[in-house]
Amino acid sequence: MEERSLTLSPPELAEDALGFFRWGRIAGKVLVTNDAGDWDFLGESEFADLLAGRIVDGHPRFQDLQRKGFLRDGLDLGAFAARMAQRNRHLRRGPHLHVVTLTRRHRRGGANGAAVDASSADMSRETAEQVVDFALQSTSPAIAFELQGQGGEPLLNLDVLRHLVEYATTRNKQTTGKIMRFTALTNFTGMTEDAAEWLIANDVRVCTSLDGPAALHDANRKWLGGSAHADVVRWIEYFGRRYAELGRDLQQWHVDGMATVTRQSLAAAREIVDEYAARGLRSIHLRPLSVDRFDPDTWAAIGYTAAEYLDFYRRALDHIVELNRQGTEITERLATVLLMKILTADDPGVVDLQSPSGAGTAQLAYGVDGRVFPSDEARSVDAMGDPIFELGTVRQLTLPEVAGSPTVRAIAAASLLDAQPKCAECWNKPFCGFSPVRNFISQGDLFGQRTRCFECKEHLAVSTRLFELLADDADPDTVAVLKRWAVTQSPFTTDGRVSKDAP
Ligand code: SF4
Repeated sequence: MEERSLTLSPPELAEDALGFFRWGRIAGKVLVTNDAGDWDFLGESEFADLLAGRIVDGHPRFQDLQRKGFLRDGLDLGAFAARMAQRNRHLRRGPHLHVVTLTRRHRRGGANGAAVDASSADMSRETAEQVVDFALQSTSPAIAFELQGQGGEPLLNLDVLRHLVEYATTRNKQTTGKIMRFTALTNFTGMTEDAAEWLIANDVRVCTSLDGPAALHDANRKWLGGSAHADVVRWIEYFGRRYAELGRDLQQWHVDGMATVTRQSLAAAREIVDEYAARGLRSIHLRPLSVDRFDPDTWAAIGYTAAEYLDFYRRALDHIVELNRQGTEITERLATVLLMKILTADDPGVVDLQSPSGAGTAQLAYGVDGRVFPSDEARSVDAMGDPIFELGTVRQLTLPEVAGSPTVRAIAAASLLDAQPKCAECWNKPFCGFSPVRNFISQGDLFGQRTRCFECKEHLAVSTRLFELLADDADPDTVAVLKRWAVTQSPFTTDGRVSKDAP
């Protein structure tokens, strides 16, 4: 048998002619990206020309690639640095997201089903005031209070919820004058008409869990807890009707929804999206389950592999895009955040998609007793019995002490993508990030390994699909949909976006 060997020719490489970039192949094109978040698609011959230093003045791609910093010739280092600084301005802004657990009570008893005494499970009015005073120390011009429902249903401590909002509003007017935003994450188990009217009158936004059509939602809630589908839908309709009656801008004022995806959801991607559209919801946050939060028997019943989830996600996203093409305005949360990073010059401020992670520097979380954590995941680690991420209490700490704490610094060091094997060379690096706290939960250390990291697979798969859609020159309608998502006021951020000159 003839012996054959394969000899690969090294590409012609004129490294002195190139700016720093990373690259990958998507949809038959070569995608190049750089640290300023600029990107472009090249044909194979154009990419060979780039590497060989043949893209010079007069080449059809010269102007674009020079402006974006892919060429050394005429590189405007000052403008490049300004674009990087703009994308990373969260590093000097101060904590803007303050996630408050108002109670450890759920509808019936605590997180583990046992009865919980309200006097020890609820945040007090005094602690709520201390949390507000602490948060207002932030240098961020915008502050978002998220009254979260993971650790307990916030409406079960409605008196303190109202006090926190009123106290923060008054203190803010008297002192710092920041842009302020409140969101209650509620499963509606504690909702009444009085509570709803107060939330609406006091500009508290509402986000809830809706897993899909009634049969799917109610099947999921046997495992996950929360309200029956009929109750969730009743309150979504109530808020929608009242916002409309009050003449609110419905683009801004609507209930946002999170769909937790179980094994039963995997075959129902279209039905889940259609349920959201039918209920008039403008955004959907598809949330995969985390294997670490379930015992083996439960995971065997409702869990799935990363590949199964990502196949589901792709089908759901494609259906959402198709609905938009037909005139229904509805967005998906992760895709929207990534598009903001890909198509705008700014960063949407989602801490787990930042490098370094914003846990402790952009986000802080508070337990019912006023203890401070770098993120709500870190608070949940404490709730599971490990106080490793506790930073202190609002009664002792100052914000500079938080930023300088060894815990926050370790989180920042672990999540710097430039220093992570695989990330340092990944074309998705300018748009990506991960949570060291989640690494700690799933892999036992802050750094983790990307090959064992679900977020890595998820972020790469979603970015790949978005770039596949953006690469399709024959489908300008879809590209227009994605550009609209990127500049829409996000329900997850506190300021608007400015479109950049993307291809
Ligand atoms: S986490 Fe994964 S997708 Fe993100 S930059 Fe790192 S290697 Fe790329």
